Amino acid sequence: MTLTAPATTTAPAAAPGLPAVTCAPWCVDGTGHTDARFPEDQVCRGTTVEVELTRRPLVEVADDEWRRETVHLYLQRRPGHTPVVEMYRGELGESVTFTLDEADALGLALGHAVQQAKG
Ligand SMILES: [Zn+2]
Repeated sequence: MTLTAPATTTAPAAAPGLPAVTCAPWCVDGTGHTDARFPEDQVCRGTTVEVELTRRPLVEVADDEWRRETVHLYLQRRPGHTPVVEMYRGELGESVTFTLDEADALGLALGHAVQQAKG
C-alpha cells in the first residue's frame, strides 16, 4: 500500500483574535486574554502560592530534580462568574474550589487551629 500526500494542502485560516476582556486587578496575564481560543477560555488567574508539605516524601518533578510535594492555590475568575480560590496538591492533584467566603472561613479556621496549637 502506498500513501500519497494530497496534491494541495491548505492551511486552516487563522482564527481571528477574541476581543479583550477586562482582567481582574490580580490577573497575572492582565492583557485581556485575546489569545484564548474560545470566550470561555478567557480566564483570569492570580499568582500561584505554593506551600511545601515538609512531612511528605520527595517527588521527582523533572529529570533528576526532586522537591517536596506542595499545595498550590490561586485566584481564578471564569468569564461571567465571581472569583474563586482553586487549590490542589501535587503536580496533578485533584483540585478543590472555594468561594471567597469559603476560602475566608478556611483561612480563619486554619489560623485559629495554629493559634490553639501554639498556645
Ligand atoms: Zn485576566
